[in-house]
Amino acid sequence: MKFDTIIIGGGLSGLVAGIDLSRKGQKCLIVSSGQSALHFFSGSFELCSLADNPYEGIATLGAEHPYSKIGAESIADLSAKVKPLFKEVGITLKGVKDANHWRITPMGVLKRAWLTMDEYGTVPADGVMPWKKVAVLNIDGFLDFHTSYIAAGLEAKGVECSVHAISMPELERLRMNPTEMRSTNIAKTLTGDLIGALAARINEYAHDVDAVLMPAVVGLTSSTDVVKLKEKVDRPLHFIATLPPSVPGIRIQMMLKKHFQKLGGVYMLGDSVVSGEFEGGKLKSIKTNNHGDTEFKADNFILASGSFFSKGLASDIDGVYEPIFGLDVDSLDVRSEWYERNLFDAQPYMSFGVATDNEFHVKKNGERIENVYATGSVLSGFHPMKQGCGAGVSILSALYVSSLLKTIR
Ligand SMILES: Cc1cc2nc3c(=O)[nH]c(=O)nc-3n(C[C@H](O)[C@H](O)[C@H](O)COP(=O)(O)OP(=O)(O)OC[C@H]3O[C@@H](n4cnc5c(N)ncnc54)[C@H](O)[C@@H]3O)c2cc1C
Repeated sequence: MKFDTIIIGGGLSGLVAGIDLSRKGQKCLIVSSGQSALHFFSGSFELCSLADNPYEGIATLGAEHPYSKIGAESIADLSAKVKPLFKEVGITLKGVKDANHWRITPMGVLKRAWLTMDEYGTVPADGVMPWKKVAVLNIDGFLDFHTSYIAAGLEAKGVECSVHAISMPELERLRMNPTEMRSTNIAKTLTGDLIGALAARINEYAHDVDAVLMPAVVGLTSSTDVVKLKEKVDRPLHFIATLPPSVPGIRIQMMLKKHFQKLGGVYMLGDSVVSGEFEGGKLKSIKTNNHGDTEFKADNFILASGSFFSKGLASDIDGVYEPIFGLDVDSLDVRSEWYERNLFDAQPYMSFGVATDNEFHVKKNGERIENVYATGSVLSGFHPMKQGCGAGVSILSALYVSSLLKTIR
């Protein structure tokens, strides 16, 4: 089977690349083993959290950082495309191009963010709290949302909080087994006609407050229920991220996938790329776990298989390696240098990844592979947590590589 581009990995980076290339008329295949980091999504995309203005933060990053390879001018151009791209997919994001705002974490602290899903509660860039008094609600028996942390965090910022738990009879079946009382199961239950009843329960506490805050447990497959719920609640309603799984993150994953398929892309879920055939400095074809000896051929390939978390990178006693093709990786030889003793310090292993040239071509045995690019968290040279740039690198490297590949009409 022959494609213009085959993308390995269907997380944020692979899907953004697939959508952009399909829009250019390319015939694309995405092969994806399974879950992605989006299932753990906070609701906010980070571009660079080192400063109030993300571009000021980006200007301080070293030459090894993927942003330095993309270059300041392209970063500015490509980052302007992110909000419209998600709008096209059906996801509304708030935030402006050149200023970070603050998101509220499940621990109740404020963290810088660049673009946030519209339904989440955020604090403006100046840090002035948008509410004087809020009701913080949980669903009775839901253990992955801690109202006491949220309220403590907000009260420390001068916001008066009242905390309540609401119960819905329809959730009682889930409550009988605490392992069933997870965000995704709640979202599957609280949908359709039940949204009106949920709004009525919320409205019991939606008076005499500036806003109601609740866990992000509505809207697994589309934002319809979220829009309906917000309309029916008497005060502004905002979501706060729960512990994983992330209902809005899973929705983003599904909507990106659906959009990719609508544009003509082929998405093979639950299959893994296991090997590739190289010839004359190029990758000719790949084979997958489920398709045995069938060869999938393409002019170009994008490796978007994620970091250790998604098995895009792996390690053993001999070191860190890229498990599909054995590509060159940037890492440290001495194992004791992979970690810092203080858990909260920047951990060196987090910046390990596949080695690339300035156009994100991968290398094998020191040789550049002409038609294989890497994008997203499989790349080396950045620190998603310390620099707050995880989603930014995933999206912008995908759009950048897509811009290098030809338009087919
Ligand atoms: C737990 C977690 C939470 C995060 N939360 C945020 C956040 O809230 N905001 C933010 O800005 N950043 C966040 N990040 C940073 C994150 O890296 C990016 O936001 C981004 O989602 C990563 O996307 P990706 O496509 O590069 O990789 P991934 O999301 O890891 O996707 C890689 C995909 O490749 C697939 N794959 C791997 N090997 C193969 C194979 N052999 N064959 C086929 N498929 C394969 C995997 O199954 C997976 O679906 C988070 C990171 C982690 C690890």
